[in-house]
Amino acid sequence: MNRKIAIIGGGIGGLTAAAFLQKSGQDVVVFEQAAELKEVGAGTGLWCNATYYLSKLSITQEFWDSVATPIDSLEIATPEGLALPKVSISDIKLPDEQKSYIVHRNDLHRALVERVGLDSIQTGHRLACLQETESGVELQFENGNTTHADVVIGADGLRSRVRSSLFGEEPPSYSGQVCYRGIAKIASESPGLIREIQGKGLRASVLALGKDQVYWWATRCCPEDESHPMERRQEDLLKWFSDWPYQVPEAIAATDPTQILRNNLYDRPPIPKWYTNRVCLIGDAAHPTTPNFGQGACLAIEDAALISELLEKQSEPVRAFAEFQNLRSKRCYDIVKQSRLFGDIGALASPLLVQLRNWMIRLSPSAITRRALQKQISYRHSIKH
Ligand SMILES: Cc1cc2nc3c(=O)[nH]c(=O)nc-3n(C[C@H](O)[C@H](O)[C@H](O)COP(=O)(O)OP(=O)(O)OC[C@H]3O[C@@H](n4cnc5c(N)ncnc54)[C@H](O)[C@@H]3O)c2cc1C
Repeated sequence: MNRKIAIIGGGIGGLTAAAFLQKSGQDVVVFEQAAELKEVGAGTGLWCNATYYLSKLSITQEFWDSVATPIDSLEIATPEGLALPKVSISDIKLPDEQKSYIVHRNDLHRALVERVGLDSIQTGHRLACLQETESGVELQFENGNTTHADVVIGADGLRSRVRSSLFGEEPPSYSGQVCYRGIAKIASESPGLIREIQGKGLRASVLALGKDQVYWWATRCCPEDESHPMERRQEDLLKWFSDWPYQVPEAIAATDPTQILRNNLYDRPPIPKWYTNRVCLIGDAAHPTTPNFGQGACLAIEDAALISELLEKQSEPVRAFAEFQNLRSKRCYDIVKQSRLFGDIGALASPLLVQLRNWMIRLSPSAITRRALQKQISYRHSIKH
């Protein structure tokens, strides 16, 4: 059945949904608030639970070989060099051969835009409000344009206008941590390894992104309304992380100081419904998560693949949406909850609690991490036809 589907938001979730829906012959337009599809973000971990779905859009091995670094192991460490035994991805039982990668967000975004086609993406269209009627949904944009759609997918991120139009305005829940990110032209000493270093109220990681480049991130605890001008970020980060091992200060120092990103980290508590008769939320608009497991974009990709499949199968959009939420909420909200807890533990600052955490790190068998990771990355949905 052919419907006119409007997707609000041209991020990873919205573009992936558009590409899948086009593949199944639907008439799709993506409305993106940004004036142009310009470069955004830094590195992103994309686990095999997401690359599995991207492979169905012909984003395959060749693409990853050209722009990404495969993830082969995982480790938690401390600034003193204490490390939990590495968990090797090859020891995790997975349903297929799909790999996980570190990739620059721009490269993935570009590949998705190519799949969708510029003709189907309307930039400079920031949704102002929407109204659902018997026959469809009326959309109004801040540039004065209006349009009608049979179905709307709200993929407009953490502060979703679609979500607040449907369910009211609620601020997201601040985690108490801010994250700095950057790309540096230095070669990684441990390509393929994801190592999170947890200190006192501080965390950091340096990850290979190609042969002679790394992507790094660093978090610290601070009030939600703290501002930190770009020109002070590099100097302050070098002060806070000066004696850290594993290339942390080197990576910060080798980053263009005008390109250090800073984001407060948020999630949202569960809500009972992500949809109405003709409108449904996906990705961060539905279930934003702190990025401690590197799963937010992966969940958005899973959502996009599933909702497209369900819309193809069901003549009534609301049935597709109800099945979608039924299949997705537990997985997504489990990740939101556990990611928040993992981040809270990683950011402990009291010397006593840090000592306790480090002691637990030393004693925990790596089987615990392996099991938790397996649950996250072996997900592949299956729906009854
Ligand atoms: C510091 C940090 C590190 C992260 N690292 C990872 C990682 O390693 N791996 C991972 O999987 N995830 C990671 N994430 C999470 C990931 O970035 C998000 O979960 C993911 O981008 C969600 O995709 P989305 O398409 O739902 O939303 P978004 O990517 O936020 O896209 C929303 C889009 O909607 C547009 N938009 C917003 N409002 C409107 C409007 N009113 N009208 C029209 N358009 C609108 C925006 O401009 C944007 O293009 C990280 C997040 C942060 C903050």
